[in-house]
Amino acid sequence: MAPVTTQTIEQTLSIVKPDAVEQNMIGNILEYFEREGLNIVAAKMLRLSLDQAKAFYAVHKDRPFFQELVDFMASGPVLVMVLQGENAIARNRQIMGATDPSKAESGTIRADFATSIERNAVHGSDSPQTAKAEIAFFFKPNEICPRS
Ligand code: ADP
Ligand code: MG
Repeated sequence: MAPVTTQTIEQTLSIVKPDAVEQNMIGNILEYFEREGLNIVAAKMLRLSLDQAKAFYAVHKDRPFFQELVDFMASGPVLVMVLQGENAIARNRQIMGATDPSKAESGTIRADFATSIERNAVHGSDSPQTAKAEIAFFFKPNEICPRS
């Protein structure tokens, strides 16, 4: 019997972080998603307040780098997006590369644009549960334009 391959169309949250926005790398970074077939189905630029940054990264509140991370994420504008595609959550993480750019595979966004483990250019949801919650954190359903 032929193997069954399941392909799930997913949505995931992506953020171009303040370091990459400041360096005018938005266009370069979006190209990585689009050339891998992930569709940008929602996008907005905003500047996170300290409270929003704290709430978004609440899962890390007990980590030693939490306050620095919050300050960094609120330090300048970010581009928040919803990416859609087959296995979009895991594929986005592959396209991003490892958290620490010195460990990120060559050709990944973080290998190419991150300057440190903190200033690492992009955020991406890490599971279906976090993707759902993180998308809802930034977008109302009618702000998302899914492709069929
Ligand atoms: P990822 O963004 O790859 O999912 P984590 O969820 O572990 O990574 O961490 C969230 C963010 O916190 C990272 O993207 C990075 O900006 C920052 N961060 C993670 N680890 C460190 C660290 N050891 N020192 C400073 N900042 C860190
Ligand atoms: Mg994470």
